[in-house]
Amino acid sequence: MIGFAKLLSGVATAALAITATAAFAETTYIHAGAVLTDAGSEPSGPATIIVTDGKIVSIEDGFLPTPDGAVMVHLPEKTVLPGLIDLHVHLTGDPGGDFWKEATTSDEWGVVIGAKNARLTALAGFTTVREAGSAQQTAYALRRGTAEGLVAGPRIIAAGPALAIVGGHGDVSGFKPEVNAVLTSGYTCTGATECAEKVRRAAQNGADVIKITATGGVLSQQGAGLEAHFSDAEMTSIADTARSLGLKVMAHAHGARGIEAASRAGINTIEHGTFIDKQAAQAMSANGTILVPTLMAFQGVSEGLGKGIYTPVVEDKIRSTVDVALSLVTRAREEGVEVAFGTDAGVFPHGRNAEEFALMVSQGMTNREALASATTIAARVLNMENEIGRIAAGYSADIIAVNGNPLTDVTVLENVDWVMVRGAVVE
Ligand SMILES: [Zn+2]
Repeated sequence: MIGFAKLLSGVATAALAITATAAFAETTYIHAGAVLTDAGSEPSGPATIIVTDGKIVSIEDGFLPTPDGAVMVHLPEKTVLPGLIDLHVHLTGDPGGDFWKEATTSDEWGVVIGAKNARLTALAGFTTVREAGSAQQTAYALRRGTAEGLVAGPRIIAAGPALAIVGGHGDVSGFKPEVNAVLTSGYTCTGATECAEKVRRAAQNGADVIKITATGGVLSQQGAGLEAHFSDAEMTSIADTARSLGLKVMAHAHGARGIEAASRAGINTIEHGTFIDKQAAQAMSANGTILVPTLMAFQGVSEGLGKGIYTPVVEDKIRSTVDVALSLVTRAREEGVEVAFGTDAGVFPHGRNAEEFALMVSQGMTNREALASATTIAARVLNMENEIGRIAAGYSADIIAVNGNPLTDVTVLENVDWVMVRGAVVE
């Protein structure tokens, strides 16, 4: 008998514990005028999205009554859709400024700027970003800050410092040798062995993804062109080493032969892809390399031309890229290259990320393809296709609301009215 009573009281305690957990769970009922669950669907009629503890629980037809203790969000005029993903941002920097400020600005200040920009990025509807290059700890600090809810902003997948050739884009140029030596990130490498070591170092220090500057770059002071800077052996070593650690590689690349070499080396995404030609695009298609075109970067730098913002060497490089960039997505897609969304925010003011959609459509993508590039396709690039990029049960509650239907006019995404990241509304 005593044993039976004990068993009963044990059951009662367990039941109480479950009730207590439920009472403390944060539940939100979102009443949406229409729900676009993913870029491959059509918007629904009025619906309720139930969110508990940061995850989507279910999507129900009509406006369900909100139970006691749950929070109601009423958006009866809005189209609600998955939060957007930008695969190429630099949160810790703002556009412009003299290049020598690199020598006078602290990493800590980068975190302050990054916290400001993380909030602007989330308010613009971007609930996940891939941080494409920063100082050693700044993007990692922001990654933790937004994950723990201490900083308003998106989920951050961060590269940390980019691997670069000595003196190349991503290293430091333009100062006296002894100043260059002090400012270098420690992630330059020469030869397959040292490049493998730097990939391992980046992983050791917290990189979610390996960023390399496969070719010269536009905004650095080096005048060594925009073609391949790493050797084929170095890039193959980087790609193989990253794969052995379960990491993907994103390669900044402008010149066609640099794009082709990076793709053949097994690098996962080409960032920019400016001078892509038929041969480079065919290599990307054959290897499944995805293009992240960052059309807003070209837009942003062209807005600054002739205003004394850039040094002459940079101004020349900008002028060589802006026209050819107007067709880079078209050239890539002619050979079947898949395109994922990324902007290079930081080269232009953070928060304007969604202007990229109209530029993609201007190069032949449909509204639906542009939206997919920033949701389901970008999620797959991050290996997070089972967590983000659609509104579905079990997915992270990364949700935005807009006026109108982005499948008929993707520019409605430039005015996002309401944003939830991991179940928390961004104010
Ligand atoms: Zn970039």
